[in-house]
Amino acid sequence: MLGLRRLLLKSRSGLRLQHTAPVAVKNEPIFDFKQGSSERQALEKALHDLKGKTLEVPCVIGGEHVWTNDIQYQLCPFNHSHKVAKFCYADKDLINKAINAALSAHQEWDLKPVEDRAQIFFKAADLISGLRRAELLARTMFGQGKTVIQAEIDAAAELIDFFRFNAKYAVELQHEQPISEPPSTNSTLYRSLEGFVAAVSPFNFTAIGGNLAGAPALMGNVVVWKPSDTAMAASYTVYKILLEAGLPPNVIQFVPSNGPVFGDTITESEHLAGINFTGSVPTFKTLWKLVSQKLDKYRTFPRLIGECGGKNFHFVHSSADVVSVVNGTIRAAFEYGGQKCSACSRMYVPDSLWPEIKKNLLEEHKKIKVGNPVDDFETFFSAVIDDKSFARIKKWIEHAQSSPNLTIIAGGKCDDKTGYYVEPSIIESKDPHDPIMKEEIFGPVIAIYVYPDNKYQEILHLIDTSTPFGLTGAVFAQDKNVVAEACKVLRYSAGNFYINDKSTGSVVAQQPFGGSRISGTNDKAGGPHYILRWTSPQSVKETHTPLAKWKYPYME
Ligand code: NAD
Repeated sequence: MLGLRRLLLKSRSGLRLQHTAPVAVKNEPIFDFKQGSSERQALEKALHDLKGKTLEVPCVIGGEHVWTNDIQYQLCPFNHSHKVAKFCYADKDLINKAINAALSAHQEWDLKPVEDRAQIFFKAADLISGLRRAELLARTMFGQGKTVIQAEIDAAAELIDFFRFNAKYAVELQHEQPISEPPSTNSTLYRSLEGFVAAVSPFNFTAIGGNLAGAPALMGNVVVWKPSDTAMAASYTVYKILLEAGLPPNVIQFVPSNGPVFGDTITESEHLAGINFTGSVPTFKTLWKLVSQKLDKYRTFPRLIGECGGKNFHFVHSSADVVSVVNGTIRAAFEYGGQKCSACSRMYVPDSLWPEIKKNLLEEHKKIKVGNPVDDFETFFSAVIDDKSFARIKKWIEHAQSSPNLTIIAGGKCDDKTGYYVEPSIIESKDPHDPIMKEEIFGPVIAIYVYPDNKYQEILHLIDTSTPFGLTGAVFAQDKNVVAEACKVLRYSAGNFYINDKSTGSVVAQQPFGGSRISGTNDKAGGPHYILRWTSPQSVKETHTPLAKWKYPYME
């Protein structure tokens, strides 16, 4: 546990300014789960204990466990006969009850010193790093269909890093103070937002759910958290860990609910102070529109933070290192079945390199094992999240099968008998404007366009202009002039930009994450500025000598 050295200084008014030493935090090491290692044994035990089991997940409102009659199930993606969680949807009245319960806790929580709030998140991170790691990984594997390493980098490493780094940034933010000129002293109070924050999380990262609810809470806000139906078991486990770490019961309300019912209800409340959303573009647009339609209701302008989808690219120049391109693309396109917001789903390859890249991609493709990540640790990725996702991706494959511009050069089969399985699919497109080169697929499908070497400048402009997204992208080139040119042309095409590295794999505090254009509000989760979105600072000036007269010298 990291100790916080706190020095309290008293200003002449008695206002207490807190000065805290910088907090040393490092990225959580990632375990490699080798045969016989203690982490492997702990994980195997947790997986064994949870196999075939169903976790009961209530709504947690005002500190009470509540069940409604609207029962739902979270199914295991790679074995849909396994119900991973049983939960219920909160209705409108219950969501309103959650809002009121949160508001009742606001003042006390907001006034608590930030160091004390931070300690709770350091403690939660320690619990996940130690005692609760194996359970949280196992729930993420069964519930969201992740492999060992994908669960580890998400539910352990990233979530721990979010909690620890945000806590560090929150404590250090207190040092950001204005200058003072005699006879006055100035200070900034980092108040929370006035009202409640609604956190709406996606299925694909356990860590994101914890961060969407956790970061505003750390900054003194009260939160009404709607977890994703298809990440329910892991989200509830994170919530319980926060309570175990000392989070007061009413600070975060845990409110599983139907998306549109939740969206409609929270935007009706005059106390809505912010929405912390990660998910698809259409859902975020819906929420933004609801807020704008109801703008006259609110006591304050709600902060809208949304991290959404992408159509992430790999641009390959003729000077690129082929091995990096091939290995990076296999990982970026297919890890977690292409269900990372940063997954590479379009690639542009010069014709001089295409024969070699194609040959190597097809060879590596043959080695990819898709299957049950719990029973077979050699699995590279597993089934996609649910039936809706399966049907959507299948449509893209059918589009590729029927379009004369498109050729499926590897994969292309789908099978949902036991789980929602889609083969890793590589599609060559003759048309850079085919919808498959422009729209988010969110599955294990990559589309490749081969261009004449000497047209690379046109291709850079095409990458920049042919989709409305701006999330992640990568440039593979050894020629430094080309890299410089690509950086310039693609300046706004990606919030996270990679040079000779794949488009995925951002690490908290190393590559703060987020994109602009329709990919989101680019608030850079995992960076030092993210927490600023969850404060409404107050500037305080205190003057220590009386104002003796109102006239200015020149008037006399
Ligand atoms: P989604 O938009 O379907 O759902 C996200 C959340 O919104 C869920 O909890 C859902 O129940 C809820 N929801 C749906 N309709 C709603 C409504 N009308 N009002 C309020 N809430 C509503 O997204 P998903 O399928 O869970 O996640 C995948 C998407 O998320 C992809 O587009 C992916 O690119 C994106 N994503 C982006 C990032 C990022 O950081 N940019 C990270 C992860 C995922």
